[in-house]
Amino acid sequence: MGNPIDGSAPDQLGFNSRAIHAGQEPDPLTGSVVVPIYQTSTYKQDGVGGLRGGYEYSRSGNPTRTALEECLAAVEGGARGMAFASGLAAEDTLLRTLCVPGDHMLLPDDAYGGTYRLVARVLTRWGIEFTPVPMHDSGAVAAAIQPNTRVIWVETPTNPLLNIVDIAALAEVSRQHQTLLVVDNTFASPYLQQPLALGADIVVHSTTKYLGGHSDVVGGAVVTRDPEIGEQVAFHQNAMGAVSGPFDSWLVLRGIKTLGVRMDRHCSNAEQIVRFLSQHPAVSSVLYPGLPTHPHHEVAARQMTGFGGMVSFRVRGGEEAALKVCGLTRLFTLGESLGGIESLIEHPARMTHASVAGSELEVPGDLVRLSVGIEDIKDLLADLTAALA
Ligand code: PLP
Repeated sequence: MGNPIDGSAPDQLGFNSRAIHAGQEPDPLTGSVVVPIYQTSTYKQDGVGGLRGGYEYSRSGNPTRTALEECLAAVEGGARGMAFASGLAAEDTLLRTLCVPGDHMLLPDDAYGGTYRLVARVLTRWGIEFTPVPMHDSGAVAAAIQPNTRVIWVETPTNPLLNIVDIAALAEVSRQHQTLLVVDNTFASPYLQQPLALGADIVVHSTTKYLGGHSDVVGGAVVTRDPEIGEQVAFHQNAMGAVSGPFDSWLVLRGIKTLGVRMDRHCSNAEQIVRFLSQHPAVSSVLYPGLPTHPHHEVAARQMTGFGGMVSFRVRGGEEAALKVCGLTRLFTLGESLGGIESLIEHPARMTHASVAGSELEVPGDLVRLSVGIEDIKDLLADLTAALA
């Protein structure tokens, strides 16, 4: 039984200690405390097949990437971690590992637009079927399962509507129907939410976001609970080749070390911004799982140790007013992505979620999404005050 607070077994290091040390023993050759960037494509062999450290070619394996992969497995409490060139590369590799033509998957009806596009416009061409489902309704999920359903794909909190899905409840549905439950843990990060401990089979990440944490790298991850599934994904990682390069792996590894302290600040800044927005006359509603009025607040409080740094809100005056706010902030930078130390603002309908316009996943035009950074809260509040005036 894992520790409910940080997911660790009683005899394991705590979350932050694992984030800083897992896979990162000082270099045996030089004593370097930080894992070096092994910027190499190949490795000298001592005679044919005589591999020194088990490495032969950096698509198949690279020591910097191995360090990251071990760290990813440790912070998610999984058997095997794998690092990819992007979150979507991780998703593509995973889905083509788990599914064959004719298989069916359930997708959130408010999935991240890129995930929806990957499934709806790429994987369907390879014979994979899908049904969008409101994942917070476990009855609807159970009802949508077909004999050929292989995967239930969950995001929680969702992007950009910040809905919450009960991971433990869906793990039970998944177990009963012998499907695999995959959780995209990008928004929460493993510091705030441990899907594998809650019964999920596999976690995916866009490490571009909170794990990297500094908006300077694009990357993805898959962590599996089952070592055999991990082995199958690793085979496809090498066979398909969408791996994380050494420098990108190093950046994500460095980011993970400070994940805990960054998330604490993201959460506390977000909570203060939510309080401010909730009382603002120009705002018609605030979407944040930490609000007691949020429809899934209780589930969030049960399965998360903090409510995260993402805040969405709807502006009075419709799309035009929302676009205006997005253009008026100065410290909140107008940009896609999220999870970095700097605050970002965006208009999902026209930006991150433009790819789902006209589909059942379309998001409202009056919606604004904030990725609350770790700047001084007084400056962030002053910025929003001016933009909403
Ligand atoms: N999952 C979520 C929840 C995301 O927000 C994103 C990107 O925004 C992705 C996956 C895709 O990750 P990447 O952009 O690193 O390919």
